[in-house]
Amino acid sequence: MNTRPSVAEPSAMHRMLHARSVAVIGASEDRSKFGGRLIYNLLHHGFQGMVYPVNPRRDAIFGHRAYPDIADVPSPPDVAAVAVPVQHLLTSLQGCVNAGVKVAIVITGQLAETGMEGTKLQDDAVAMARAAGMRILGPNCLGAFNTPAGICLSPSVTMSVDKLHKGRVGVASQSGALQTAMFIRAFDAGIGFSSAITLGNQADLELSDGFEYLVDDPDTDAILIYVEGLKDHKRFKRAALRARALGKPVVAVKAGRTDAGAAMANSHTASLTGSYEAFSALCESLGIVVTDQPDTAVFCADALARWGAPKASGVAVASGSGGAAALAADAIDDGNFHAARLGPRAIAHLADHLPMRKETANVDFGAYFSAFDPAVMRDTLETFADEPDVGAVLLIMTPQPAMENLAEIMREIGSTRGVPALLCNKAGSMVRNKLEADALVTGYPIYTSLDDCYRVLEALMAYRQFQDEGLAQETGNTPAGAIDASASRLSPGLLTEPEAKGLLAAAGVPVTSEIMCPDVDAAVQAAQKIGFPVVLKGVARGLIHKSDAGAVKLNIPNVAAVRSAFAHIQDAIADTALEAAFQGSLVAEMAVGGVAEAFVGSAWDSQHGPGVLVGAGGVFIEVVKDVKLAAAPVSTAKAQAMIESLQTFPLFDGARGRPKADVAALADIVHQVSLLAAHLGPRLKELDVNPIIVRAAGEGALAVDARAVWTTPE
Ligand code: ADP
Ligand code: MG
Repeated sequence: MNTRPSVAEPSAMHRMLHARSVAVIGASEDRSKFGGRLIYNLLHHGFQGMVYPVNPRRDAIFGHRAYPDIADVPSPPDVAAVAVPVQHLLTSLQGCVNAGVKVAIVITGQLAETGMEGTKLQDDAVAMARAAGMRILGPNCLGAFNTPAGICLSPSVTMSVDKLHKGRVGVASQSGALQTAMFIRAFDAGIGFSSAITLGNQADLELSDGFEYLVDDPDTDAILIYVEGLKDHKRFKRAALRARALGKPVVAVKAGRTDAGAAMANSHTASLTGSYEAFSALCESLGIVVTDQPDTAVFCADALARWGAPKASGVAVASGSGGAAALAADAIDDGNFHAARLGPRAIAHLADHLPMRKETANVDFGAYFSAFDPAVMRDTLETFADEPDVGAVLLIMTPQPAMENLAEIMREIGSTRGVPALLCNKAGSMVRNKLEADALVTGYPIYTSLDDCYRVLEALMAYRQFQDEGLAQETGNTPAGAIDASASRLSPGLLTEPEAKGLLAAAGVPVTSEIMCPDVDAAVQAAQKIGFPVVLKGVARGLIHKSDAGAVKLNIPNVAAVRSAFAHIQDAIADTALEAAFQGSLVAEMAVGGVAEAFVGSAWDSQHGPGVLVGAGGVFIEVVKDVKLAAAPVSTAKAQAMIESLQTFPLFDGARGRPKADVAALADIVHQVSLLAAHLGPRLKELDVNPIIVRAAGEGALAVDARAVWTTPE
């Protein structure tokens, strides 16, 4: 047997971030130009490989021989950075292809982001590169850098800093400008990046290329990604799962929190899910921490790189100010973490030094005579850190004696005890210069905003929770054969109720027993077969709100009533101008005995894949908007947790003396619908099951109505 390991081709990202030779097209010594800054930054950060400036008007640039054309460089460069005016882009890229360049970093902008013409040019560039096996980063990007390797391929002005801090956070960002803003914010706080990659228009290499690289990068301990929209959610998912398997925390910043959502919504589902929500749901299913604040995201990623998942969800607070400590205690009890509790030994031990006997780890040093003694502060904070319920220590520094000692103690605790120790400097100019200078030297972050601290704590604790939940979400088996058989009869557009329910039944969801009846005689027969009372509902393609149109008749007691209901419904549909579409009436059992109504839906999102929703049902769903969305599929356990997290959960849980509803049966339906959605993928664009009648605990749940939007893939 051949046991030699196969050596995989290095990825384009790897080639680029470990380039041994770089050509800079449009190189110059003028740092007001992209090409000038790019080559300056490359040399400034100590690039050790071959540099080939390309500029027909110069013999040398920054002491490196310049070449009139890329065709003249002596050997094929690993990377070419292209910062030329847009009208020269294709010629330049053709030159790169001919010269055997592996990866072109295209800084040049004014392409797809400007409209049709730019898009065409960008497409042509990619087609040309692909045909020759050359990869493109960008266009319209700000390049990339790899700190440990000393490779800076970026024209960003931020790269003129003297020296990049060392750090363990890797960044992949769709936006170049935002990445540089995050960079400088991190830099000022003493936080460094291992590698940072900006993707720009993602014409060829995309976010997941950067993500994948960072997942496998030995210099990266946590990953920060800035996302506008995903190109390939399956690939993103694979990279995220790999990060998770390797124990690398991932923080995502998503643009577009205020997305208006789908305006032309045919269903509740579409109006209730925006792209931000879908992205968050996808991330949640992958154990990715999401935030909408790029600035603090850097701190979150840094904290996760430093400390990983905290050992507990309690937070100990210390301050020289009783007010600050009390405020923090309040803020901490609001989130998914709590004021840490002390065990009896710690309480007794602390009472030796401090006249404090309390069970929460919250100390106001200012309140005690000897508390500003550095030995006492150290002992107190170390005692906190070692307590089993303390997952993090937060110190709010207000002006007090021995502040620098205190900073030193916090840094030591945070660096040696594996417990996140967050220092928030509220002592302003008293210590700012000294602390900030220290942070730059030691790389230990000093926060200045309490909000930042809370967000960092939130990120740490969210990550901890993801670890606790574990990856193994047993999502069960999809009845694929039955679903495919039911799906094979469908055509694109709005499905009728019996069609949508056919899919549900195939997925194993309990639905009302019912018979589709094209004429009144069939309806009478069906009613007798099902047993009175029955329900009649008009069926017409395009009929969305049946009861609004007068096409739902409930509780029909006998044959005569069936006949009149059928006629009424036919007339009602005639009034809606859907007459041509009238297919008949659905005769269904009258579902009784419900104690609550629920809504379950699914939505396909081209950027994020399938999602499943659950909420309290009924007519107020759009008003209340109390729904929970998750990436599909979900396990029944996850479905149960979704239901329990609804604001309206008390309605299912015996509020005001009602019987408790069969939440387990509802969770089964959420799970089955999620499998259906995941199996059908883009074909099932939207599905609303509303209402589901949920009976008392142990008595089950039944889908009463469903509608769906069907598409057929091209
Ligand atoms: P639409 O949502 O298009 O108006 P539905 O089928 O949901 O139509 O019917 C409207 C309401 O009638 C439902 O919300 C439910 O309260 C009730 N209903 C419909 N079908 C049944 C049934 N088979 N058993 C009991 N109640 C029903
Ligand atoms: Mg309905």
